[in-house]
Order: sequence, then C-alpha cells, then structure tokens
Amino acid sequence: MKKISLIAILSFVCFSTNAQTKDSISMKRIFNETLLNGNAYQWLYDLTENIGPRLAGSKEAGTAVEWAKQKMIEAGADSVYLEPVMVPHWVRGPKENAYIIEAGGNKQTVQVIALGNSVATPKDGITANIIEVQTFDELEKFGRAMVEGKIVFFNHPFDERFVNTFEAYGEAVQYRWKGPSEAARYGAVGSIVRSMTNAIDDYPHTGSMRYNDSLPKIPCIAISTVGANLLSKIYKANKDVKFFMQTNCEMKDSVLSYNVIGEIRGTEKPKEYVVVGGHLDSWDNCKGAHDDGAGIVQSIQIIKTLKALNMQPKRTIRIIAFMNEENGLRGGNKYAGEAKLKNEKHVMAMESDGGGEYPRGFSCGMTRAQFEKVQGWLKYFEPFDAAKFSFQEGGGGGADIGPLQTMFKTAQFGLNTTGQRYFDVHHAASDVFEKVHAQELNLGSVVMATMVYLVDKYGL
Ligand SMILES: [Zn+2]
Repeated sequence: MKKISLIAILSFVCFSTNAQTKDSISMKRIFNETLLNGNAYQWLYDLTENIGPRLAGSKEAGTAVEWAKQKMIEAGADSVYLEPVMVPHWVRGPKENAYIIEAGGNKQTVQVIALGNSVATPKDGITANIIEVQTFDELEKFGRAMVEGKIVFFNHPFDERFVNTFEAYGEAVQYRWKGPSEAARYGAVGSIVRSMTNAIDDYPHTGSMRYNDSLPKIPCIAISTVGANLLSKIYKANKDVKFFMQTNCEMKDSVLSYNVIGEIRGTEKPKEYVVVGGHLDSWDNCKGAHDDGAGIVQSIQIIKTLKALNMQPKRTIRIIAFMNEENGLRGGNKYAGEAKLKNEKHVMAMESDGGGEYPRGFSCGMTRAQFEKVQGWLKYFEPFDAAKFSFQEGGGGGADIGPLQTMFKTAQFGLNTTGQRYFDVHHAASDVFEKVHAQELNLGSVVMATMVYLVDKYGL
C-alpha cells in the first residue's frame, strides 16, 4: 500500500511539474510573440490619429465600429460580428465660454467644458455670483438662503494621500456625477466642478453626470485645475465674484450603434465563454488613447497572439469592443442582457479600462474560492512584476462587464496599472497617442493573455 501511494504521489508531482513547465513555456511564447510581433501600438496610432474622438452616437464612433471589426478579422478571429445597441446621442455644439468677473469688473477667461449629458445654458449664457464648497455637507450648511440664484463651485481636489489614484477619483467623482442636482436642490442656477485630476494644468476634464429627475436640470461644466485655483483665490479674497458660463450642448434622440465581438472558438467547451474587452467609445474632446483605446488594442492583440502561436483554447474566447461606456453603459448592459436571453455560460469576464500604463495585476471580483485558485497562479505573473491581485467582493472588473456580474455573478478581472499618470489625461484633450508607451501597452496585453490562458485551461 505504502509503495502504491508513493508511486501515486510521485507521478502526481511529475505530472504537475510537467504541466507547470508546459504552462511556463506557453506563457513565454505568448510573451515573445506579443513583444516581438505585436500590433497593439500601431493599431492604437491608427484608432486615435486616423479616427480620433469617438463619442457614442457620433459618425466617428460608427467609423470606429467598422475599424474594430476589420482589426479583429485581420488578427485572425474565427468569427466577427456586430451586436446592435441603441445609444444616447449627446452633442457638445460650439466650444463653451466662461470667465470670472472680479468685484471691480475685471474679467478673466478660464478653460471649461460642459459635462456629458448636461443641458445647455440659455444662448446668451448665465452670469451669477459664485458660492464655493468642497463637500456636500458644506453645501447643505449654506442651504437655500445662501445658494439660491448662484452658481455652485465644487472645488473638491483629489486626496493626495491615496497611493492608488483610482481611489482618489472614486472619492471625488461624486461632485461631478451628482453635484449639479445637489446644487439645484438649493436653487442654484449653474454648477462648476474642479476637474477630476491632480495635475495642475489648463485642460478641463469632462465626464458623465446624471440629473435627479425630481430636481431642476441646471447647466454644468468642469473647470481646469489652473482655472479652479484662480477662481478660488479670487473668491477667497472677495466673495463678491461673478461667473459667466455659456454652453451649447444638447441631448438628441438615441441612435443605433454596436458592440463589436470577435471569437476564437473553443475546441472542447465551445459553449463556455471567456470574455475580454474594453470600450471603443471615447469622449468627444479627446482621442481616447489611454481611455480606452489601450484596452481595445490590448484585447484584439490577444486574438492575434493566440492565432499566431496556433494555441487553440478549450473554451470560446470572446473579445468585445463595448460601445457607450462613457455616457450610458448601453453596450455593457446590452451584452449581458443578450447573454441572459441566450442562457450563455460565462466563465470569466476581463476588462482593461485603467489606461495603457505598466500592468501591476488584477482586481478580482469573484468568490473567495475562485480567488484562492487565482492566487495559485501568482508565480506566472511575478516575472512581469504584475502579481498584485486584490480581492474585490461584488466589483473590481470594469464598468462594461459589471452587468455580467450583476446578472450571473460572472468572475471579474480588471487589469490594474500603475495608474499614476492616468488621471492627468483622463477625459481631457491631453489623452493622446504620445502619452502611451509601447512596451507598457504590450505588457498589459501579455498579462491579460496569460490570465486568459490559465482560466481557459483550468477553469475557475
Ligand atoms: Zn474608460
């Protein structure tokens, strides 16, 4: 008996060592192929420089859909198809105007941008006194007596103590998202929010906001951090400061757009899906290189890498370029809704939407048992210095794949990057191709492909 168990143990050890060696060799091949023959960087140039800004509903978003379809075909996908989805069609119109009017009448122009989905000011703009707050508590304390008829200026900076800038963003973004309605609650006529960045420059950063339907819809803008500092300085010196803002945006009727889906069919379990993607749309004021051209090209590169290496997955790999993450999330919701209708089984969903900076690991939104299994693979990510996996109960993947988690509890992987410079350019005109580093971009794709390889082979 003893002898048999020893043989059994030895053969198991040999088998698992062999499997590990085989896996290490496969991963080395993925690494070499992506780094030496990858197209992600050239594709990113093409998407950002030849198509450029591509807000959902725009003509350019339509061009980007055709582009993504073509790139997935070129990468070697077994099939590529479009999933129709109705998306909001918000347009900015002519550039916004804004200036500070000091107590003595001196005017100082500042850089601003209307927030996505917001209503416009009257054609001739709004001029009103300012009231500056850092928090909703302060706003509440001022109350209607102090706020009515004024423009509320939410000057809430990123908390520099967060090492992870995404946490600073998460804490500050409420003032952009619901600030306008909270200001309207106390009778404000307009709302300004400090741009969501810790960079001090003159780029205003746009982004989504949502009105509370039970409150008046007031126009809202983001101001550059240079503009915010100037406005705050003038306001603190003399509270009798006025502000002029004029915006021209408009929400039009929804239009038809698409998620783009490319598949590599599974050989053993073709009805089990491994989803990987990013979002194809960007804001209209920027070329969306980090957000999220990077995630798109990293994902499509996985098709090219696996096909070039003739690695046939067991399960079906679905690469998805989601539409309308920025101002509606219609693409992500549509995909999960269709999956439910078709009763599809998803093994995992991965998203890269944290920019093309150096990859550090994954946020893992899954069960504890699944996370333990994933942690067993850390050694494969150590050579890339990307072995930082964090457990995120009920979240952690990305906006587009969130609905899969809500509907099916699908395990989520969100690619984490160093992220130190991401918010310098996020939703601003400075989010351009030159800000993305080829090697870092490719390494992100390698780390994603490595996890796809492991989950496909061993399941979760
Ligand atoms: Zn994004």
